[in-house]
Formats: sequence, C-alpha cells, structure tokens
Amino acid sequence: MSEATTINKPSTAHVVNTLTKELSRQVPPASILTAVEELRPYECDGLSAYRSLPMMVVLPDTIAQVQHILATCGRLKVPVVARGAGTGLSGGALPLENGVLLSLAKFNKILEVDTDNRLARVQPGVRNLAISQAVAPHGLYYAPDPSSQIACSIGGNVAENSGGVHCLKYGLTVHNILALKVCTMTGELITIGTKALDSPGYDLLALMTGSEGLLGVIVEITVKLLPKPDSVQVLLAAFDDVQKAGDAVAEIIGSGIIPAGLEMMDNPSIRAAEDFVHAGYPTEAAAILLCELDGTEDEIAEQVIQVGSLLRKCGAVDVRKAKNEMERTTFWAGRKAAFPAVGRISPDYYCMDGTIPRKHLAHVLNRIEELSKDYGLAVANVFHAGDGNLHPLILYDANIPGELEKAEAFGGKILEVCIEVGGTITGEHGVGVEKLNQVCVQFKSEELQQFHAVKAAFDPAGLLNPGKAIPTLHRCAEFGAMHVHRGNLPHPDIPRF
Ligand SMILES: Cc1cc2nc3c(=O)[nH]c(=O)nc-3n(C[C@H](O)[C@H](O)[C@H](O)COP(=O)(O)OP(=O)(O)OC[C@H]3O[C@@H](n4cnc5c(N)ncnc54)[C@H](O)[C@@H]3O)c2cc1C
Repeated sequence: MSEATTINKPSTAHVVNTLTKELSRQVPPASILTAVEELRPYECDGLSAYRSLPMMVVLPDTIAQVQHILATCGRLKVPVVARGAGTGLSGGALPLENGVLLSLAKFNKILEVDTDNRLARVQPGVRNLAISQAVAPHGLYYAPDPSSQIACSIGGNVAENSGGVHCLKYGLTVHNILALKVCTMTGELITIGTKALDSPGYDLLALMTGSEGLLGVIVEITVKLLPKPDSVQVLLAAFDDVQKAGDAVAEIIGSGIIPAGLEMMDNPSIRAAEDFVHAGYPTEAAAILLCELDGTEDEIAEQVIQVGSLLRKCGAVDVRKAKNEMERTTFWAGRKAAFPAVGRISPDYYCMDGTIPRKHLAHVLNRIEELSKDYGLAVANVFHAGDGNLHPLILYDANIPGELEKAEAFGGKILEVCIEVGGTITGEHGVGVEKLNQVCVQFKSEELQQFHAVKAAFDPAGLLNPGKAIPTLHRCAEFGAMHVHRGNLPHPDIPRF
C-alpha cells in the first residue's frame, strides 16, 4: 500500500485500515491502492461525465486472491465494483466512494488454445483483440469485435455482452463463449457451462453474460474460435438521403444475405472520420453503408453482384468495391475511428446505445433529427445498421452550464423512441448508471422485481456493483415513468414526487 496520502474521511479511514489488514493476508501490499493520486486513474470509465473516487483499488493476480477479497468484503459489508479495462460507456465500472474497485488488469494471460476443439481458455483481463492475434497463426479468430477491441477486456465484454461489426453474422459475446469461472460475493468459485455446446439446468451462462458485474466476478472465460474466412470483400455505398440508406439495410437482410458486417454513418460522422483517417469516404454523401461479405471466393463474387444491385435499386448514388486488402482495411479504419473522430469536432459527445427493429431505421433516424432541432444539439450517427443497433453521438460542451443535462435528456428521449418502435434501450453498452431511468420505461414493476430476485439469489446483501443496471421501484416512481399496464399504476403505495 502506498504511504503517500491517506484516505480523506476519518470514518472511511477506519474501514480502510481494517480492510487493508484483512486483505494483506493474501494480497501483496503493492496491489492495494489507497492514496488519492493512485485512485484517480480509476475514477471513471468511458462515460467520463460521471466520476467518483473509490475507497480502495485492489489488483489481485490469482483466483484465490479474488476469492479472499470478495469473502472479506462480504464479511465487512463493503461493496465491490469489478473493472476490466474501463472502456465501458454506461458507467458500469464507476467506483463507489465507500467501496472497493476490483481491477482484473493483472489477469492478462491466454491459458490454453485448443485448435482441435476451436476454443481458448483466457483470463478476464485479456484484451479482445489479443485473442484473435494469438490464434491467428492457427487460421482462427474470435468473432465479436467491439470498436474498442484494441483496449477492452474479454471479462468486460462478457459482463456487457458486447457486440461489434461481425456480430450481425456471428452473434454477440453470449453466442461465442462456452464456459465461465466466476467468484461469488461469498468467495466461492463456481464453473458455469462446459467445453461442450450445451449444459443441463438453467442457462446461467446466458444469465451471467450481460450481468454488468452484479452477480459475480468472472475470473476465466472459455471462448469459441472460428476459422478465418477464405475471402473477404467490402462494398462502400453512398446515398444522398439517410432514409434510402436505412431502407437498403432492411432490403439486404430481407433478401436472405447475411453480411459479415453492415454499418452506417451519416454525414457528420463521414466528415469527421474522413478528416481524421482519410479513408476515402465521399464527404458530400448524406449517408454511407459499409457492407462486408465473407466466404469462399465464389460465394463472395456472387454476393458482391447481388448486394451491389440491391444497393443501387435502393438509390445508392455510388457503390465502390475495395480495390485491395489495404483499401478494405482503410474503409474500416474510418468506421472504427469514428468515435474519436467525432471527439475532435466537439468539446464533448454523449454516446447513446439503443436497438430497434431494422425496418424502423429510417423513421427513427428522422425522429432523432427532429429531436436534435428541439434540443438545439447536433448529432452524429455511426452504428451497426444490420443489427438495428444505433449509436447517436450527441455533441455538447460540458463547459456550458446545463448542456450535459440537456444532452442526457435528449439521449433519454432517443431511447424512449427506440422502445416506442419495439426496440430496447441497450444494444451492447449496458445500462450501468446511465440508463436506469429508461429501464423504468421498458419494464413493468413485476419484471423489475424478478430482476431484483435474481440479483438477490446470487448476492443477497447487494454488495456487487450496487446501484447499477436495475433501478429500484422507488427510483422508477420518482422518475415518473414506471411502466403502466391498462391504466393500473403499479405499487400505488410508493410515494410519487
Ligand atoms: C471508442 C469506444 C468504442 C466502443 N465500441 C463498442 C462496440 O463496438 N461494441 C460494444 O459492445 N461496446 C463498445 N464500447 C464499449 C466498451 O468497450 C464495452 O462495453 C466493453 O465490453 C467494456 O470492456 P471493459 O474491459 O473496458 O469493461 P469495463 O468498462 O471495465 O467494465 C464494464 C462492466 O463490466 C463489469 N466487469 C468488468 N470486468 C468484469 C469481470 N471480470 N467480472 C464481472 N464484471 C466485470 C464492470 O463492473 C462494468 O459493469 C466502446 C467503447 C469505446 C470507448
């Protein structure tokens, strides 16, 4: 433990001392951080508008240490927030000032690559991209590819059920893992799933995936590996109208072709990305679609013709096929760098994440444009169009009083539009602290009670990542957006504000 600065509040100091003494029985002192300057790097995740210093950061490097930390915190009633790489965009890894931040950064080893069974056993702190890089010599890769894959951890991917460009064809994280080792809040180690494709009993693997660190701490993951396709091609289609681009997405999927990726960018995103990466994008286009096709050479040749003619039929003013591998990579580089590129044109941006049925894409994009005028804040759209997973980036300036609040209110409205058309308030970034109010809109109180019951079954004292992902019924009542079924106000006994 550092001796540089001791923790601020006297009441906290007592807890810190007791906890440090107890944890030091198994965790090396250098892995227990309490000095303010050591805690500072952990004060937020990718949703940097929300910040809070943890009481303590602990960096274990063995499963036994994680078990000891959880059992000790459980006994002392200290809340625990797990953290992977801290790239989450909904505040899931936001620390609690009275809690321990449990970093999995030292769990960074690939434990086994089993090429015969096409799987790998990895520790949770391994970066997403590092898995594909490690198995590339065997002609294999790990399919889910969040745009943050260079930095985000596979443990965070499981906790958020992350997606990416390739998830349209190959599924989300939940479809690409086989087993997990998880430490419970009491310090027990449980194994969920097997190396086989299915296991008896409740599907706890699916339950744990996307559980946002509320049910257990993931300490090992068995992932599926796929053979790299023989051939890959990408088409870039430019449209003079966002509506036409949205309709083209529905048309391509409706035709029975499942591209390996189908991404859309609107004009502000195109300009920002082009300025940043020089990807060769048409900066005057209202929208572009990037459509990746993979398979054998023959399949690709046929699909390129089919998709090209569908795009033109839907009104694409230009359709370009990447001339070579370098151009294909450059087309994708613009898309993958779109978030930081937008960060260069606005002091701040607020990234929303909602999913809608594909056929409503054009309608929802128009609604976002209307809301943008209402709120007086510009929006750049760059998203996984094939999955109907929207990522409106609301541009604002945190230095202007009230703009963050305005951006949050605008973002909330966008998510409510997603619900209106039969979609959901999260595609891949989770609920965290960001979307608690919209969960109240999406779910009935009976459903929320089931969520709380599941949480209590794993963590009865509510010490794992409390206050995230599932709102209390009181919070929903206060927000005034509790799901009302046939006019029956749920829990009329709860005071409204
Ligand atoms: C530029 C940028 C682009 C992005 N693009 C995408 C994208 O295309 N698709 C996508 O899905 N996401 C994307 N994200 C969001 C983010 O990268 C993902 O949510 C990612 O999975 C988070 O991983 P992490 O290791 O950073 O987790 P963290 O941010 O550290 O944590 C995320 C959540 O997981 C929990 N957690 C972390 N590790 C564990 C563990 N071992 N056990 C239990 N709980 C744990 C935390 O408590 C928290 O609730 C993007 C983010 C950025 C900044």
